[in-house]
Amino acid sequence: MAYYRAPLDDMTFLIDELLDAGSRLGNLPAYAELGVGPELTTALLDEAAKLAGDVISPLRRVGDEHPATCADGVVSISPGYAEALQQLGEGGWFGIAADPNYGGQGLPELYSTAAFEMWNSADMAFALQPMLSAGAALAIAEHGSDEQKQRWLPKMYSGEWSGTMNLTESGAGSDLGVMKARAVPEGEHYRIHGQKIFITWGDHEACENIVHLVLAKLPDAPEGSRGISLFIVPKYLVNEDGSLGERNDVYPVSVEHKLGIHGSPTCVMAFGDNDGAIGYLLGEENRGLACMFTMMNEARLKVGMQGLGMSVGAYQQAVEYARERVQAGVPIIQHPDVRRMLLTMNALNEAMRALVYTEALSMDLAHAGPEAERAGAQTRVDLMIPVIKGWLTEVGQELTSLGVQVHGGMGYVEETGAAQFLRDVRIAAIYEGTNGIQAADLVGRKLGRDGGGAMLDVLDQVADTVSALNASGDAQLAGIGAALAGAAADLRGTTEQIVASLKADAEVALGGSFDYMMQAGYVLGGWHLARAALLCHERIAAGETREFYPRKIATAAFYTEVILPRSAGHSGALRGAGGQLKAFPENWF
Ligand SMILES: Cc1cc2nc3c(=O)[nH]c(=O)nc-3n(C[C@H](O)[C@H](O)[C@H](O)COP(=O)(O)OP(=O)(O)OC[C@H]3O[C@@H](n4cnc5c(N)ncnc54)[C@H](O)[C@@H]3O)c2cc1C
Repeated sequence: MAYYRAPLDDMTFLIDELLDAGSRLGNLPAYAELGVGPELTTALLDEAAKLAGDVISPLRRVGDEHPATCADGVVSISPGYAEALQQLGEGGWFGIAADPNYGGQGLPELYSTAAFEMWNSADMAFALQPMLSAGAALAIAEHGSDEQKQRWLPKMYSGEWSGTMNLTESGAGSDLGVMKARAVPEGEHYRIHGQKIFITWGDHEACENIVHLVLAKLPDAPEGSRGISLFIVPKYLVNEDGSLGERNDVYPVSVEHKLGIHGSPTCVMAFGDNDGAIGYLLGEENRGLACMFTMMNEARLKVGMQGLGMSVGAYQQAVEYARERVQAGVPIIQHPDVRRMLLTMNALNEAMRALVYTEALSMDLAHAGPEAERAGAQTRVDLMIPVIKGWLTEVGQELTSLGVQVHGGMGYVEETGAAQFLRDVRIAAIYEGTNGIQAADLVGRKLGRDGGGAMLDVLDQVADTVSALNASGDAQLAGIGAALAGAAADLRGTTEQIVASLKADAEVALGGSFDYMMQAGYVLGGWHLARAALLCHERIAAGETREFYPRKIATAAFYTEVILPRSAGHSGALRGAGGQLKAFPENWF
């Protein structure tokens, strides 16, 4: 089993050619001095690829076979993880897209997204540590006072301190409004009491300190989600001069035994079992969930990246195996059904990557773009995030399962490492808002708030791509255009239907929401591959001879011929959502 090698060709093609980050972002004041463009892309991605391939990827099986453990209130992590985290910190990767005023590098989210794809492909359990740290730091960056930012962020961006997100309790998962954790005011801080479960990288000794972000309720807080506040609760208190002080009253109780991501310590955390854990309010009282929402887009995009990252790892291993394994006298890569599996994996990986990088760029435009474009970019991001989180993590399960299938019986045997991709990726459809919640968010909130306007705007852009494909004079591109036009028209129809049923009977709309999310993913993934094919066609016409370009067009053609038709299946399913799904009596289950 070879270690992961980052698909740098495809990544740089997207960033520098299709998205043209240099022109779109390079001149914006926030990035003007950073030299955003092909040279920087290559330098950064090469460095990240070395870390991912040579340092992190060799740990994937180690973490799986030597899971994190908890004994006497101390969590021990898998061998090699602490050293690799240190290397990530030394390379400045924890603060890659963070504010330079607090020690970040200030680079676009687009680069951070590419790096996270690599960390995930290399070892998703490991990658959760920088991911959760980035989420916690972002919440502080967005809602902290300047004093709080000075105190917590530089050490988080250097990787010396890590971060966690503490939302879930045994009775409060998708519905956080019923949580029980309490916060009692005491002078300038609060005392936090309560138990949180499933806390990713909740405790470990790899960093000097851990900055827990904790949701809890103040005395007399309003009922439900409007009564939740957000607190910074460090593992070790921090003195005025920045040195570490006493241990705070927060301890890991246990580490879960899980299907996958064994290297990631998923902890039950006890806050305040003794005197009460000292916590500092972040943002305003009772606005904790709203604070969380501002960093949720980034977090959900990164979870979507887990679906992609794992699928890329699974694909690389499956191709390698299919070239070596001989059956019926030939390497199995020559059998049509194996080619179907490998091409499906590759085409969907490229579609997912194109979708997620495109929206990472939208995030950068929403934060730092020209003033007049920011609101539009944010609307686009808000619409796309549930599609990215939901579609990528659903597809991730299918592709990692195909990776097992390509290996035959050896895929089911742990020693090949193929099954680990499947086990690891399974959680991504569950946490950070289950995919059912993503679908409800897409339909209920995102379509509901503007009558589907943002989606219809995107579909207008798809229509522009179709026109360009037709005008190319190339039969293969015209074929891609025809298929895309049909699928986009269908998505327009289901968008209008869902918006109508939201008004008439929300239950029917929500019953069809998952299929709508999947339909949108397949159509928009196909759109981005079609855009890529157009650009590759232009490059070839201009005399480019790299095999990369015709390969990309062929991948887009396969996608439209074999994958895109799935969108019609989802459309049909959601159109039927008002039938038995609604009528079937509960006691018949
Ligand atoms: C390995 C792991 C790591 C995790 N890391 C963290 C972490 O770091 N921090 C943290 O706070 N939490 C974490 N979680 C918790 C995770 O976010 C929750 O498990 C998740 O939000 C789902 O909540 P639940 O488990 O209570 O499921 P439930 O909310 O009970 O959901 C059960 C099922 O019901 C469906 N459902 C529930 N409500 C609705 C609804 N309104 N509409 C439609 N369907 C609905 C769900 O989609 C799901 O299929 C982690 C969990 C795991 C397993």
